[in-house]
Amino acid sequence: MYSIHDLFRKVLVAACPLCGMAASAGELCDGCSRDVLRIKHPGCWCVQCAVSISPGLLRCTQCLSWKPAFAQTVAAIDYSYPGAMLIRGLKTHGRLALANLFACLLAQTMASHAGCLPPLKAIVPIPASDRALRKRGFNPAAEIARALSRDIRLPLQATWLRRTRASALQKALGFSARRESVRGLYACQETIPPVWVGVVDDVLTSGATMHEAAFALRRAGALGVVALVAARTTW
Ligand SMILES: [Zn+2]
Ligand SMILES: [Zn+2]
Repeated sequence: MYSIHDLFRKVLVAACPLCGMAASAGELCDGCSRDVLRIKHPGCWCVQCAVSISPGLLRCTQCLSWKPAFAQTVAAIDYSYPGAMLIRGLKTHGRLALANLFACLLAQTMASHAGCLPPLKAIVPIPASDRALRKRGFNPAAEIARALSRDIRLPLQATWLRRTRASALQKALGFSARRESVRGLYACQETIPPVWVGVVDDVLTSGATMHEAAFALRRAGALGVVALVAARTTW
């Protein structure tokens, strides 16, 4: 059944946020949907971190050796051209309506995984650093999480995770150094109920940040974590 919000989106015609052609309000046109949405493409992705892998495999070699604290990852699009332009639109240009779009794409992707996903009971955004918040004025992950919690009717728990320090995250770091730089970055202030939690981020790159968030939530009582990300890097 459509919500009022969905019905408005269906009947209003607007420009596709990626190519500018006619599309339902706030949605991608059919062509761009086919170009960027993973569920529109045949492919094989690591069940745990959603990186592209060879057909027939369940997990990538990195997840097999590293064993991330999150059980699965749902990624709506690849972080590559042209979908990455949408991420840039949100994060760099502050087009907040794109958070609604990513929530919608994530909800569609989650629906396509129905039966394979554990029963999520809460949505938690990855907290932004104070520096990033000052720079952007908003947390992209929190905006996507808020819209997703509304779309799939799960409670948003924005206070369950907090940062313990300013991040030392450096994009140029290798995987091991990156993991080390974010170790202990998150903590929970309260005991978390023994439920499956969906942790939302805009882009999953190495997975080190998501691992730390999942580790903190599980240590505080969560049964398990599924990463819900708008985009997954393709390397
Ligand atoms: Zn388009
Ligand atoms: Zn993996």
